[in-house]
Amino acid sequence: MNDRIFLSFPHPSGSEMKWINEAFKNNWIVPLGPNVDLFEELLGKYLEGTNVVALSAGTAAIHLGLVMLDVQAGDEVVCQSFTFSASANPVKYQGASPVFVDSEPDSWNMDPVVLEETIVDRKRITGKYPKAIVVVHLYGMPAKMNEILAVGKKYNIPVLEDAAEALGSTYFGHKCGTFGEYGALSFNGNKVITTSGGGALICPSPEAAKRVKFLATQAREAKPYYYHTVVGYNYRLSNVSAGIGIGQMDVLDAHLARRRAIHALYTEGFKNFDGVTVKQDYSSEIDSNFWLSTILFDKDLHISPEDARQALEAQNIESRWIWRPMNMMPLYKDAPYYGGTVAEDIFNRGLCLPSGSVLTDNDVQRVIETVKNFVKSR
Ligand SMILES: *Cc1c(COP(=O)(O)O)cnc(C)c1O
Repeated sequence: MNDRIFLSFPHPSGSEMKWINEAFKNNWIVPLGPNVDLFEELLGKYLEGTNVVALSAGTAAIHLGLVMLDVQAGDEVVCQSFTFSASANPVKYQGASPVFVDSEPDSWNMDPVVLEETIVDRKRITGKYPKAIVVVHLYGMPAKMNEILAVGKKYNIPVLEDAAEALGSTYFGHKCGTFGEYGALSFNGNKVITTSGGGALICPSPEAAKRVKFLATQAREAKPYYYHTVVGYNYRLSNVSAGIGIGQMDVLDAHLARRRAIHALYTEGFKNFDGVTVKQDYSSEIDSNFWLSTILFDKDLHISPEDARQALEAQNIESRWIWRPMNMMPLYKDAPYYGGTVAEDIFNRGLCLPSGSVLTDNDVQRVIETVKNFVKSR
């Protein structure tokens, strides 16, 4: 049997242990400390001088972003339908209701035209505007932020970017996560860099970042005794995990270059092959990190992603279905949905290919050959 090829696997730099040892040496084995401070500083520098707060998960970052935007019970939040459930679930944590919006075909992300129709219609139906907009850069592909931010501005609704998959992606020269009022990152094991589990919130000001840290540490007031005025959360990143993050920052650029190189190999591999299209940047002004390389099978082939997934699995290759849109989830069957079947169509004929920066060129060739053989056998 061939060695297993994983979809997206952690890729250590080697320098992580130094920072973990540092935490142990100084007994900073707590959810705060010098590693957390340094990791936040490095992220902030990387993200164009923004104020970044390291947190226990990307989901926690999205949740605190919504809290900071004052999303409350009874509010509605417009959310991209085509995403992982963690983009939408925090809306529920707040007792608010998600309203889902379809994607447009260029980016696979929120359709700005449908977004505006949604906002106008929710105002008509409920008498008030949605409280926030959650937009996602799916698979690292930047959403159409200029258009989306313009809609948000027109109706005075803040945008929260779910950039969990898009660390290092750029849109018109600027990094994803820095466009919205808040931006969420994830350092889960399968993302571009990992802290073995963790996330971060990109904040609009030092004051906002301070408030986020306060909320993330149980909203404990600065008094000698325990004293609380608001609901807090236990969402800070461990100083040990932050050490992994610091070690990963050493290789962030190299990992991004490798993901993009893997995408280029897929593009080249399927160039003259009928039936398979590799997803590409939709404009020269954007640069996806290609967290995952994705393909679409031609409609007329009537290929089920599950058949493709199993064909790859038979060769010990891990692939994955495209995210199942939230409007197709039993969990959100009662949530309002606006748009058509753009995301649904992609879901029904797409596949995520192994894309981790650990992959060798030979691994990628093996994936390409396996997909080709599968399509030819149809
Ligand atoms: C991974 C991911 C998250 C959640 O991040 P965690 O760190 O796993 O909590 C949120 N949104 C999207 C789109 C993701 O891919």
